[in-house]
Amino acid sequence: MKAYVLNTGTLKIDKNAFLLNAVQARRDNPNPRLEYIDCCTYAVLVDHPTAGKFLYDLGVNPDALSDKWPEELKQVCPYTMGEGEDFLSQLALCDTKPEDVKTIILSHLHWDHTGNMHLFEHCDVYAPIRELESALLKIHSSSNLDDQFPYYKPDLEVPVKHLIGLTDEEEEIEIFPGVHLINLPGHTPGLFAMLLELEGGNIVFPSDASYLAANYGPPAHCTGGVLYDNRAYMRSMEVLRKYAKRYNARVLFSHDIEFFKNEMKVAPEYYA
Ligand SMILES: [Zn+2]
Repeated sequence: MKAYVLNTGTLKIDKNAFLLNAVQARRDNPNPRLEYIDCCTYAVLVDHPTAGKFLYDLGVNPDALSDKWPEELKQVCPYTMGEGEDFLSQLALCDTKPEDVKTIILSHLHWDHTGNMHLFEHCDVYAPIRELESALLKIHSSSNLDDQFPYYKPDLEVPVKHLIGLTDEEEEIEIFPGVHLINLPGHTPGLFAMLLELEGGNIVFPSDASYLAANYGPPAHCTGGVLYDNRAYMRSMEVLRKYAKRYNARVLFSHDIEFFKNEMKVAPEYYA
């Protein structure tokens, strides 16, 4: 089994949105400067010996660079896509075309993880059922795209082959041999981490259950921005820690650009 991390561009965001009270006013510094940080975004292409090629998450929709995108979001969380960071170029780095991929697993349905769904109408798509229910309700609760965020309706209305909601009754599901989905709700109503058993060392992608190395700790540090259930978030961090320990797996954070640049193998390099 091989796992390629596909670079899908960079977002900017107020650090407080990722790390609760990262910058805090205090008596001796009543007006601190906020930190506006760069964040990586990525998808993971897995080449599996029996399941074939599948993707975990799909990066950011290129509409984020166009007039279709809500102006408010362009101001708060602007997206940039560097040369060769479009999805087709990233797949090509791994000698892969969209038609070679049969299955998509979505960690959750926020806009920075569902972005290239339009390339995969021929695929079976798996997502956490509680997240699917929540996202579909939200995108149909208003005709205004701003109100639907952090979901992006055009991604979630792509007519894929099958859209399959997986329940969270089990803490962990081995969806393919050596590929474990771990239920880590909190950031969203449902969220799957993906743990891969690899000969060269196990790895786990926590998605937004841990944006940054600083969220993971220990001790765990809560996210500050988009948060569905803070107690579930903190509980899920310990579940993540339990599985990382049980499988001796390296945790690869979802939006930590320093970690991404310095610690992660990025396509065309791969984990195996
Ligand atoms: Zn995200």
